[in-house]
Amino acid sequence: MSDKSEDREIRKIRLKRMIEELKKKEGRGTELISLYIPPNKRISDVIYYLRQEYSTAENIKSDQTRKHVQDALVKVMERLKYYQQAPENGLVIFCGAIPYGAPGNEKMEIYVIEPPEPLYVNLYRCDDHFHVEYLEELLKEKEVYGLVSIDVNEAAIGVLEGSRLKILSTHTSGIPGKHRAGGQSARRFERLREMAVHQYFDRVARHVNDAFLSEEIYPRLKGILIGGPGFTKNEFVEEADLDYRLREKIIGYVDTNYSGEEGLREMVDKAKDILKNVKYHSEKKHMDEFLVKLARQHDLILYGLNDILRHLYDGIIDRILILDDFNYYYIKLRCKICGNEEEVFTREEEKMKLEYRTPQCKKCGGDMEIIEEKHIIDYLDDASKIASFKIIIITSDTEHGKILKQFGGIAAILRYSLNY
Ligand SMILES: [Zn+2]
Repeated sequence: MSDKSEDREIRKIRLKRMIEELKKKEGRGTELISLYIPPNKRISDVIYYLRQEYSTAENIKSDQTRKHVQDALVKVMERLKYYQQAPENGLVIFCGAIPYGAPGNEKMEIYVIEPPEPLYVNLYRCDDHFHVEYLEELLKEKEVYGLVSIDVNEAAIGVLEGSRLKILSTHTSGIPGKHRAGGQSARRFERLREMAVHQYFDRVARHVNDAFLSEEIYPRLKGILIGGPGFTKNEFVEEADLDYRLREKIIGYVDTNYSGEEGLREMVDKAKDILKNVKYHSEKKHMDEFLVKLARQHDLILYGLNDILRHLYDGIIDRILILDDFNYYYIKLRCKICGNEEEVFTREEEKMKLEYRTPQCKKCGGDMEIIEEKHIIDYLDDASKIASFKIIIITSDTEHGKILKQFGGIAAILRYSLNY
């Protein structure tokens, strides 16, 4: 993976976490605002619209709901003043009075999100919950695999998007059978047939090039599988005029009984394992490297949160491998009396306890308050910018993810030996 796609992975994980938090929040009435602004939209237009919504809210009968809606609208408009136009991926704002305990104990909260990818949704909604579904849509699997099923009679081109097969086109060869008509010379027949096969291959290849290099597919194309009965599929790849960018993406051949459309369906069933391995291939490579070093160069690895935190800023860490569901938090506390600061790393459950019970200062026994709080992946992400290491997110629901779990869910591969 390139640095950029690693960064995107981290942003996606952060967003996923935030969506989970937002889903839990409910308003007392229809008073929580969800606002989606598409890329590059003029903010003055949005503010104009929200001012009208503010006037409309005058008609709300319940005093409390009216006040909450109008307060939220003011807060959103205040926040929007920082922008001239929406950022290049758009902007999403959630705002509203969230109840904590008895009525009257609502807290006005605002969440401003810049999506990790362009989000073309234009929406204002006032409801008893936040509308996070469009953001969730962004996180769904969007990678596609190209499929070509071919034999001498027919060919079909399709894409696999998630688990959905979409057939793009089908082609027949028009090539005569292997048996020549009476009176035709065998050599001439063979030559004509070869020419016809060649033309057919090139025709299919042109369609494959057009389909898979299109703007809609190519940027998401993870790999191409070629399928069909017998050797025609191999000859096709060897001889046809396939674009070099697509050749690089061929990840395997699949033997099937059928060709054409039916062949594509057969390929999807047979290729599940191949596809799964491709998806996690780069993750697995990092884990394999960790395991090899564990066995042979033990001084070039670290594992477990505490050991990694101890060496985080030493400049020896090259990569940190961390499970996507590693739920730890970094919390910074400050004593209200003597100003003493303490940092703790804690699980999500422990974090809740800290929030409800006031911890005591180790120096003077005074009350401490939380002054900073970050998810561990965000904490590591910040640290990575200073100590220049990479963060590799490992999918926990995989074989290699289960192995990482046995090492505490977090591990590091080092640049230099620890004993150096
Ligand atoms: Zn103190």
